[in-house]
Amino acid sequence: MDPKQENHILPKDIIEKLFPYELPTPEELEKKYPPRYLQEGAMVTRVGPSPTGLMHIGGVYSALISERLAHQTKGVFYLRIEDTDELRSKAETTEVIVKALDHFDIPTDEGMTISGEEKGKYGPYTQSARKDIYRSMVRSLVEKGKAYPCFCTGEETKAMGEEQMKQGLRPGYYGKWAKWRDAAPGDVSKELEKGTPFVIRLRSEGNFENKIKVHDLLKGDLELSENDIDKKILTASSGLPTYHLAHAVDDHFMGTTDVIRGDEWVSSVPLHLQLFDAFGWKAPRYGHLAPIQKMDGGSKRKISKRKDPEANAMLYKDQGYPPEAVVEYLLNLANSAFEDWRKANPKKDNREFELTLKGLSKSNGPLFDFVKLNDISKDIVSRMSADEIYEKSMVWAKEYDPKLAEEMEKNSDYTKSIFNIERMGEARGRKDIGKWADMDSEIGYFFDPLFDEKKPAVALSSYGVAKEERESIVGDFLETYNENDTKDEWFEKIKDIARKFGYAEGAKQYKLEPEKYKGQVGDVAKIFRVLLTGKTNTPDLYSIMKVMGKERVVRRLKDCDSV
Ligand code: GLU
Repeated sequence: MDPKQENHILPKDIIEKLFPYELPTPEELEKKYPPRYLQEGAMVTRVGPSPTGLMHIGGVYSALISERLAHQTKGVFYLRIEDTDELRSKAETTEVIVKALDHFDIPTDEGMTISGEEKGKYGPYTQSARKDIYRSMVRSLVEKGKAYPCFCTGEETKAMGEEQMKQGLRPGYYGKWAKWRDAAPGDVSKELEKGTPFVIRLRSEGNFENKIKVHDLLKGDLELSENDIDKKILTASSGLPTYHLAHAVDDHFMGTTDVIRGDEWVSSVPLHLQLFDAFGWKAPRYGHLAPIQKMDGGSKRKISKRKDPEANAMLYKDQGYPPEAVVEYLLNLANSAFEDWRKANPKKDNREFELTLKGLSKSNGPLFDFVKLNDISKDIVSRMSADEIYEKSMVWAKEYDPKLAEEMEKNSDYTKSIFNIERMGEARGRKDIGKWADMDSEIGYFFDPLFDEKKPAVALSSYGVAKEERESIVGDFLETYNENDTKDEWFEKIKDIARKFGYAEGAKQYKLEPEKYKGQVGDVAKIFRVLLTGKTNTPDLYSIMKVMGKERVVRRLKDCDSV
């Protein structure tokens, strides 16, 4: 090899060969992407998902937090598609991401939109369309001697890693292992002439033994080792950068003030700070979020895209959770104060809740819990008007349960009165529907074509009232049934029947002298309930009869003969 590079700066002609493109200069880029005009305290945040498949619920969680922080401070929230991993990126999943943000009503000010076009002045917002920006900035580092080409083959770096492991050393391209770090220009030229593929690496001046102090917005003060690894920043063949370079370049030119991202990136902060420093830029503030976890057996673990269906944000759409329920659940995970706020402000829009950095969950990953999500969702549905439930559930049903949608549409007033029963129940704390996928089982029986006539038979078969007695009870009821009866009148009639057949007219009475009765009035009502709905547990029976209407009630009760 020729003598080593002294000032680390490669001759101009070699740099030209490394970057044989027409590129904008860094000055031109600075001009094109000027600092944003922001109010005092305004935060510019972003979400940078990689379009490699589904939208992870953790991605929605971090997008939601970033969006709220930006908009609460009158800042900007934007979407950047991080598709630098060509092998793993799939164009169609960008659409999945945009649709997911739209579904959960997480509005972006800039970036890809649902129409397939980008909005905003700091674009393009898709990394694969920013090659020239990255190349320009990497070239500027090479020109300053802060980055250099490395011609190691994949096998060479693999062998290096194996050797390091054998010797019990830290893996990586550093120190004496950084083969091309100070290579002579002649050696670089030779490889270029041969057409050997190369990558560009950052020339790291860090010392692993030194510690740096970093303040993390969420994790607090951290002490991390300096980075001494000459990390790959650009893959010259594809012209695409690694995440590290793209992060620094994009978050600089897009004017991000606060990077909220997953805590798998904490250990890369020293490298990222080095990059900002190498460019002479101010680094953003960082806040690293712990991943959402779940219980698996007796222990907690990260929700995984591969193993857990609940990792997929669209599962919640498929199941018909109202988007605001998922949002409120995630706000609850992000900040436990949300729950009390919601209790104190049952009618307020959740946007009025102020999500503060201070209030955000700190180190431990929040635990995902479907029971809690369902509770929150039921609560939200119970606060909706019947019209609102009708509208929202219809959107879901049309896509996922067309038979139900057809019935709901044909009988819209009937359907709304069904939803009103659910709302009447609210006063007693009854909340039946948490997600639209439950509708079929919760209200399907109201519609004749969806009512499974075999169900009452199954439900009554294990019920200790003889068929003849059941028939007499139903016969007696039908004799005096008047659909205009008030609830009290109706109930008096049921009580009369109960007494006549040897049942106590109240639960209390029955409890006092159980030996005197066959059962109590509730057992009699249960016969009607099961015959009408096929279920033993339903909202208020009187309301059900009212909504079903006389013809349907009589028909279903008469079917008792066949049960
Ligand atoms: N594309 C990165 C990821 O999916 C984004 C990290 C960031 O927000 O900076 O992990």
